[in-house]
Amino acid sequence: MNYNKMTVTDINAAGKRVLVRCDFNVPQDKDGAITDDKRIRESLPTIRQLIGQGARVILCSHLGRPKGEFNMKYSLAPVAARLTELLDLQGQAVELAADVIGPDATAKAAALKDGQVMLLENVRFHKEEEQNDPGFSKSLALLAEIYVNDAFGTAHRAHASTAGAANYLPAVCGFLIKKEIDIMGGALQNPKRPFVAVLGGAKVSDKIGVINHLLDMVDTIIIGGAMAYTFIKADNGTIGASRCEDDRLDYARDMLVKAREKGVKLMLPEDNMCAREFKADAEARVFSSTGIEDGWMGLDIGPEAIKRFSEAVSSAGTVIWNGPMGVFEFDRFAEGTRSVARALADSAAVSIIGGGDSAAAVEQLGFAAKMTHISTGGGASLEFLEGLELPGIACLNDR
Ligand code: AMP
Repeated sequence: MNYNKMTVTDINAAGKRVLVRCDFNVPQDKDGAITDDKRIRESLPTIRQLIGQGARVILCSHLGRPKGEFNMKYSLAPVAARLTELLDLQGQAVELAADVIGPDATAKAAALKDGQVMLLENVRFHKEEEQNDPGFSKSLALLAEIYVNDAFGTAHRAHASTAGAANYLPAVCGFLIKKEIDIMGGALQNPKRPFVAVLGGAKVSDKIGVINHLLDMVDTIIIGGAMAYTFIKADNGTIGASRCEDDRLDYARDMLVKAREKGVKLMLPEDNMCAREFKADAEARVFSSTGIEDGWMGLDIGPEAIKRFSEAVSSAGTVIWNGPMGVFEFDRFAEGTRSVARALADSAAVSIIGGGDSAAAVEQLGFAAKMTHISTGGGASLEFLEGLELPGIACLNDR
C-alpha cells in the first residue's frame, strides 16, 4: 500500500467547492444531545485549513445506522449546531442541508461563498451509500470540485462517500488521515526497534490477520486478554474455564511455530488473575498458566505476566497496542491493562494505540495524553496493521 498521499496542503482550494468526508459519528444521549464531541473537534484543523484557503466547504458524514432511510433520529442537526459553535465563523452558521444529494443540498452548495461551510444530511439516509453505488457517488461528486477524506474510522469501508466519490474528483486526505498514515505507516515501514506488538481483547478470530502480518515485522509480540487462552492451550497449558476458541487452536499452533522460525519473541502470560464467575466482584485468585483449576477462568494477566510484559514495553523503541489485557471494565481485573498502559505511558517508545476498546481503556485509565498516537479508527486501524489496503486511502491521489 502506498502511504504517500496528497493532502489538503498540496491543493489550491481557493474559490473551489470541496466535499469533505468527516467522521461525525458522535455518541448521543436519548434526547439526541452530543455526549462527546471529540470527533467533531478533531475534524476542525482540516476544515479551518480549507476555510483559510478560501474554499467553499461541503462537509458530509454518517451518524449511526439509519439503514438507508431518512430517519430524523439520525439527523446531523446537532453536529451542525456544534460545528457552528466550535468554528466560530463570525456569526455565520454551518448550514445543514435537508437532504444529501437532493435539491436543497444542490442549491445550498451552489450558493456557498468563499470560506463558507455547510453540512449535508446523513449520507447513510441513502442505501446507495454503503453499496458504493456509482450513481450516488457521482451525485455526491457533482456537488464539488475537490474531494477530501478525513474519516479514518470508515476508511476501511468502500462506501460512496468514503471512496466512490474519489473516482470523479481530484482526491486528497485531510490532517487526521495524514496523521494516521504517517504514524502507523511509519511504524510499519521503518520502526524504531525493538518493535513490540501488544495484542489482547476478546477474540483470536478478530486478530488472525494482524498477528500473522505483525509476526513478519516485530521483534516481540505480547498476547494477553481472552485471546491468550487459546494460545496457552495450544502451547499445552491448562486453562480451566477460560474463554477458548477451539477452532483456532491449529492457527495458534501455527503462529507459535512461525514466531519461533522468525526469531520473534512471542510472550504469553505465565500467570493469570482468575474468577469462577464473570462478575465485577467475583473472588479473584492467581493461577499459573500450567494449571488453572477446573471452574476458574482467566479474566486478567497475573502479577508475573504484568512484570514481564511491562519490562518488554518499557525497553521498546516502538509499541503498537490493540486490545486490553483483561476485563478492564471490572476494576478487580483491570490491573493488567492499567500496568501495561502505565509502562507504555512512562516509556520513551513511540506508542501507538489502536482504536476501539484499547483507546477507550487508555482514556478511561487516564494515560491518553502520554501516548504518541491514539488511532481514531478501531476496525480501520486493525486492517491497517494487517497490511490490508484501505479503500478510503487507496482512492486518494498519490504524491
Ligand atoms: P476487543 O473488542 O476484541 O478488543 O475485546 C475487548 C473485550 O475483551 C473487553 O470488553 C474485555 O472485557 C474483553 N476481555 C479481555 N480479556 C478477557 C478475558 N480474559 N476474558 C473475557 N473477556 C475478556
